[in-house]
Amino acid sequence: MMLAIRGLTKHFGGIRAVDGVDLTLAKGELVGLIGPNGSGKTTVFNLVTGICRPDGGSILFEEKSLVGLSPHRINRLGVARTFQNIRLFRNLTVMDNVRIAHHSHLEYGPVSALCRTGRFYREEIEIQEKVENLLSIFLLQNRKYEIAGSLPYGDQRKLEIARALATEPRVLLLDEPAAGMNPNEVGKLMEFILGMRERFRLTILLIEHQMRLVMGMCQRLAVMDFGQVIARGLPDEIRENSKVIEAYLGEDVPFE
Ligand code: ADP
Ligand code: MG
Repeated sequence: MMLAIRGLTKHFGGIRAVDGVDLTLAKGELVGLIGPNGSGKTTVFNLVTGICRPDGGSILFEEKSLVGLSPHRINRLGVARTFQNIRLFRNLTVMDNVRIAHHSHLEYGPVSALCRTGRFYREEIEIQEKVENLLSIFLLQNRKYEIAGSLPYGDQRKLEIARALATEPRVLLLDEPAAGMNPNEVGKLMEFILGMRERFRLTILLIEHQMRLVMGMCQRLAVMDFGQVIARGLPDEIRENSKVIEAYLGEDVPFE
């Protein structure tokens, strides 16, 4: 198991945001986490990545507990994420956004950086190569000197994924990566995520609201409603699950 979540619970005042969630990811799997707005999906990510601390339950990453560790530490162990609302350094260039993410993994300390030792320069050169490499995989090399905030929306989403991958994760958590994209961009993003998964041998947990995206690409799905997992299974099973259809009632066209 890459990631094993058991009995995960988080309450905010009277709200049971996450209420006894079990979820496992085997190495290399791509699992979709779906559910109506407010069902607790993002909170699961916040708990796994150390942004907030669970009230109960366990989170094991490669057998090691993540509960109580800082977001930085969890990222260094090999778990990276993107956010529902894109988080970039909007005023920095595309290249600097990726560089900064890489720097969280540097071996040299502040002293060697200040003194510009040989090791510092060697690592800087290595990082520059990795950054260029990532940018070309993401087809962003021609935009590397552009300001991140000025990129088209779809490219900002890709840049955010590139930043997450710059930290060299084994598990990638994507929070609604297709939000705000047009159907054409969504199709490209799907292919892109599948390509990344192969290339970097990633294990991926994908939160998505657009059913077309998850149904087409995930091997398994878990559906949340009111903080609990109400269904799990293959995409075709989920599509016909009456509890799931009921949970989505009142929302726009769930299974397009
Ligand atoms: P989803 O991502 O499925 O839309 P969230 O995990 O964002 O759902 O939210 C689940 C519930 O928890 C919602 O009712 C939300 O308002 C609440 N919630 C999430 N984060 C916080 C927080 N930091 N403080 C208080 N309530 C929160
Ligand atoms: Mg959310």
